[in-house]
Amino acid sequence: MRVMVTGGAGFIGSALVRFLVLEKGYEVLTVDALTYAGNLESLKDVQGRANHRFLQTDICDRGAIERAFADFKPDRVMHLAAESHVDRSITGAADFVQTNVIGTFTMLEVSRGHWNALPDAQKDRFRFLHVSTDEVYGSLGAEGLFREDTPYDPSSPYSATKAASDHLAKAWYRTYGFPVIVSNCSNNYGPYHFPEKLIPLTILNAMEGKPLPVYGKGENVRDWLFVEDHARALDLIVDRGRLGETYNVGGRNERRNIDVVRRICAVLDTQVPLARPREELIEFVADRPGHDARYAIDASRLEGELGWRAEHDFDSGIEATVRWYLDNEWWWKPLRHHYAGSRLGLIEKAE
Ligand code: NAD
Repeated sequence: MRVMVTGGAGFIGSALVRFLVLEKGYEVLTVDALTYAGNLESLKDVQGRANHRFLQTDICDRGAIERAFADFKPDRVMHLAAESHVDRSITGAADFVQTNVIGTFTMLEVSRGHWNALPDAQKDRFRFLHVSTDEVYGSLGAEGLFREDTPYDPSSPYSATKAASDHLAKAWYRTYGFPVIVSNCSNNYGPYHFPEKLIPLTILNAMEGKPLPVYGKGENVRDWLFVEDHARALDLIVDRGRLGETYNVGGRNERRNIDVVRRICAVLDTQVPLARPREELIEFVADRPGHDARYAIDASRLEGELGWRAEHDFDSGIEATVRWYLDNEWWWKPLRHHYAGSRLGLIEKAE
């Protein structure tokens, strides 16, 4: 099996590449532009393996992507490359429109050209998985879950561009019969998570005794998914999912942001105590504009049709994640300067 993974030097992409190369033994080509969020160090476990190759290129560069297809001849494309940070999309949406919309369009078009030219037997087994977010569905009230038929209602520039790319992917199936599957997942956490996002930011600041910024009153609810559970789900979906369908991926681990931050403080206080409890470092900061109140996923299609289950509950996943950041300063230390200059309060507070 030959799999092209875009965005494979990012957080989820690198977990997926490790899974495909090390556990499945597939031939993998990682395609990544290495933006601020991409990091070759996240691929150190697979670099140098005979079944892994890396290509630094922008997915909007059609010529380069065409050459990659001609050279690698993938059986599958798993498309994760994206601009992914909501706060950055609020202060500068251009890169989000370019990569998430134009980049996905480019990937779909080049993949379709490749697929069209395949002999029938290979054509039948070709798949394109478009990896997306539950944020396309907007915000939930206190009750209910996002299902695959929940209407799209994105709030941020980030989720609007992901919604646009989902629609393109679905249209390529309906219009051209191109074998696309879309997955929409909840918030991921785990090792190699770029330290501008809530969980790694909180872990690192709490380790160093720095303020722990929390938006609003910390009451926004997210449904947390351990990244390695997500990687397994993506492999199952592209392998056995129905063409043209959407699969929601979620860990059934709903938590308020404030409870996530408190839990990280408690785990760190046990492992590396400070003079005072880390909860005292929590600082509430002005809320993010358009901040969705609650996301929660109904993953019963994925569980029922494909037999997937999240193996990590939130408590075991967060303990493993805290342990990983404690043990892997070599990975995160050089990245800390990347978010020092951000215009948003939450990110500035990190330094
Ligand atoms: P990430 O920001 O950690 O990684 C994105 C990767 O894409 C980086 O390696 C970056 O260098 C690469 N990239 C960006 N622009 C590119 C371009 N123009 N050409 C080639 N490569 C480019 O993101 P992530 O958290 O790993 O998310 C991966 C995918 O999963 C994204 O599509 C995202 O929308 C989706 N998703 C993420 C989450 C989450 O909680 N992290 C939740 C739901 C969906």
